[in-house]
Parts: sequence; structure tokens; C-alpha cells
Amino acid sequence: MYIAIMGCKACGACRDVCERDAIIFEGERAVKIDYEKCNLCMKCVEVCTNGALICID
Ligand code: SF4
Ligand code: SF4
Repeated sequence: MYIAIMGCKACGACRDVCERDAIIFEGERAVKIDYEKCNLCMKCVEVCTNGALICID
């Protein structure tokens, strides 16, 4: 399982909710997940109302 990031609107909500600081940003936009830190809790996917974080099985 992994999380694809497409069309980030730079709201910052996923960064605020991720307790593991696992979302890598370039400027204000989320660009990828650090799977060394991520525990696949899916809080970021739930909080992204822009649909930019997509869980792929
Ligand atoms: S919550 Fe979604 S739109 Fe907001 S910064 Fe994260 S990936 Fe981008
Ligand atoms: S799934 Fe959880 S740990 Fe992984 S990046 Fe999203 S909020 Fe952070």
C-alpha cells in the first residue's frame, strides 16, 4: 500500500495532522511520503479534502 499525491492545493492540512512528520514538501506543496517514517495511519488521506492524497493498494 502506498499514497499517491496528485494535485496538491497546498492547504497544509496533511502536514498538520501527520504525527510522524512523514510528508515531504517542496515549498507549500506535498510531493511525497517518507515511508521510513510513515505508519500508513491514513489520517492525511482522510484530512485532504482536495482529494490530492490517494491510497493505492
Ligand atoms: S492536505 Fe492535500 S491539498 Fe492540503 S497540503 Fe496535503 S496533499 Fe496538499
Ligand atoms: S499515513 Fe499517517 S503517518 Fe503516513 S504520511 Fe499520512 S498521516 Fe503521516
